Amino acid sequence: MSGTSYTYSQQLMGTTVSLKLFVENLTAVSAVFNAIEKLEARLTVNRYHSEVMSINHAAGKQPVAVSKLVFDLICKAKAASLLPDSKFNLAIGPLVKLWKIGFNGHSIPEKDEIARRLTLTNPHHIELNRTNQTVYLAKAGMEIDLGAIAKGYIADIIKLLLAQYNIFQAIINCGGNVLTIGYSPITADKQWHIGLKRPFAEANNLLGIIHVEDKSVVTSGIYERYFIFNDQLYHHILDPHTGYPLNNELHSVTIISDNSLTGDIYSTIFYGLGIRQGLSELKKKQNIGVIFVTRDKKIIIQSNQHFTFELTADDYQLISYS
Ligand code: AMP
Ligand code: MG
Repeated sequence: MSGTSYTYSQQLMGTTVSLKLFVENLTAVSAVFNAIEKLEARLTVNRYHSEVMSINHAAGKQPVAVSKLVFDLICKAKAASLLPDSKFNLAIGPLVKLWKIGFNGHSIPEKDEIARRLTLTNPHHIELNRTNQTVYLAKAGMEIDLGAIAKGYIADIIKLLLAQYNIFQAIINCGGNVLTIGYSPITADKQWHIGLKRPFAEANNLLGIIHVEDKSVVTSGIYERYFIFNDQLYHHILDPHTGYPLNNELHSVTIISDNSLTGDIYSTIFYGLGIRQGLSELKKKQNIGVIFVTRDKKIIIQSNQHFTFELTADDYQLISYS
């Protein structure tokens, strides 16, 4: 074990992906970035062609056979969409494409058009056939969007890939998604130190430090993609019931969990649940911890013993339920 670290970055999945290792292994590094590129090409809906887009293009026409990897993720995404009170919805695509938040050409859509697209976002209308490994979108115009969870799924796969190269200490950072592997060889407490971002500030402006070992740390923040029109902020996490950005007391939700797909699903679900319902739900979910950051400068934590948090911002109030 050495204290020397090696960091590699590439622009992928619409963000900067960085990989930090503690051994020099360029074969592993290129395998990782190649794998991410290939996985992104299968899962993306931001290009005309991908496996997921082949399902979308066939909406209302016919079922499409996909790879096991894509099928499994769609099954998990559908299950998460059907959880009670879930505001996660894999069928949200027609609304994401309408608003274009975070992309060129964003605007506030007409009410009627939002209402029309809402009729195309029912997750029950996504028909999965396990035997044939096919996905069928029952209505023309429906679109699957895995933007909320693809990075988490890919990060978990990269962890398995690194293990094939005997790498068991690393950090993969895909924008708001951080996956820590093993313990940290470069800190005194052997924990990884992950920054919690201050909403709407520069990336290095932090509210505090999350200390974890061998965990995923995923944040859904409304400051990641948004636009402002007439003093009103429109952000990228949409309410599948109204078709408008989810409106609640939160700036961000961070989930600390063993795997990153779980973190990615629950960061969106807990954003939708809000604090009161989220905290009560967490009593049943001992396998994850959560950090809520509110609009009125509170940081509310339920760690369930998965992490510790060190507050560095003196203008925020820390409320901890651990
Ligand atoms: P995240 O940053 O992981 O919270 O994911 C946000 C992205 O997920 C958005 O940019 C959309 O592509 C997509 N999305 C927006 N609203 C929802 C929703 N209610 N359920 C599932 N995915 C969503
Ligand atoms: Mg997410």
